[in-house]
Amino acid sequence: MRNWIPCLRACSREVPMPATPWLKLQIPARVPRGFLSKLLVLCSVSVFAPEARAEEQLDVLFLSKSSGYEHAVIKRSEGDPSRVEMVLGELAEQHGFGLSATKDAGSINAADLQDVDVVIFYTTGDLTKSGGTGAGIFRGDGEGAMGKDGVTDLIKWVEAGGGFVAFHSASDTFKNTDLGLADDAVTPYVEMLGAQFRAHGPRNFAGQLMVIDPDHPVAAGLKDGAAVVDEWYAFSQLATDRIHAVALLDAGAEKDALPKVYGGDPYPVIWTMERGEGRVYYNAMGHREDVWTNPLFQGLVVDAILWAGGEGATQSSPNLSVAHP
Ligand SMILES: [Zn+2]
Repeated sequence: MRNWIPCLRACSREVPMPATPWLKLQIPARVPRGFLSKLLVLCSVSVFAPEARAEEQLDVLFLSKSSGYEHAVIKRSEGDPSRVEMVLGELAEQHGFGLSATKDAGSINAADLQDVDVVIFYTTGDLTKSGGTGAGIFRGDGEGAMGKDGVTDLIKWVEAGGGFVAFHSASDTFKNTDLGLADDAVTPYVEMLGAQFRAHGPRNFAGQLMVIDPDHPVAAGLKDGAAVVDEWYAFSQLATDRIHAVALLDAGAEKDALPKVYGGDPYPVIWTMERGEGRVYYNAMGHREDVWTNPLFQGLVVDAILWAGGEGATQSSPNLSVAHP
C-alpha cells in the first residue's frame, strides 16, 4: 500500500503547481490579483469590491469558525493566517479565484452570500453560538456567531445555484446533539451536507481510498487504492439514498481494532449532492497539516472548488443503495 502522504517538509510553505492531470479543470488565468495578503485573509466577505473582480472570476468565501473543538490547522496565531487559510490563499492566486477568509459566522447571510460563488466550511458546533457548549478544547473560538437565519439563508443560496464545499469537521457542525435534538433527528444543515460526524478513533491511520466514480470532475486527482494518513471520521445520519459517493474508506486493520467506530463495510468519505440548482461537496479529510500541504490533496481542493462553482458535469445522482451499518 503506497503512502499517499510522502512527506511534510517538501510540501510545506512552497506550493508547487500540481502537474496534469490534477489541473484538468483549471480555469484560465485571469487578471492578476497579487498574492492573497494577510490583510485580505483576515478580512471578511466585505473585501469583495465588485469593480475589483473580473466578471467571470469565482469568488470563494472560507469560514473557519469553531463553536466547539478548534482544529490546529485553522488556528490563527498572532494575527497570522491559519495553515488552511495560507494554502487556500496560494491556491486562489495560482488558479485565479477570489478568496475571502473569515472566522465570523455572521458572514453567512443572504445579503453577503449574493457576492459569493462558493462557500467553504471548516467548522465545528452550533455556529449560532460564539463559544462552544463544552469546556476546555470544546469551548469554541469566541469568534462571531451566525445569525438565526444563517442556515436557512445558506441552504436557500445553495438551492439558487451556490456551491458548498465542506472539509473534515464541517460534518461536526450543526449536529442534532449540537442543537439538543434527539439522536435520530436530522438537522437542516446535516440534511444538506449528507451526514454528521459520529466518532473517530484515538489515532490517525492510513485509510485506503476506494474510488467508485473515477470519472467525476472532483475525482481527477484521486487514485484508487491510495492510502491517506489522517484522522478518519465515521458518520451517522448518512444520506445513503441521496448522496453521490465518489470515494469510500477502507479502514483496514482499524475495522477490527475499533469495530464500534470503523467496523462494517467501506463507507463514503468523499461525496457530492445536488441541491436545487446548487452543488454540495464533502471531503472527510483535512485534520492534519501534512494533508493540507500535500499537493495531491490541494489538487482535490481546487477541483472541488471549481466543480462547486459550476465547472464540469454535476454528476450527483444517488449511487449508494446499501446503508453503512
Ligand atoms: Zn479532526
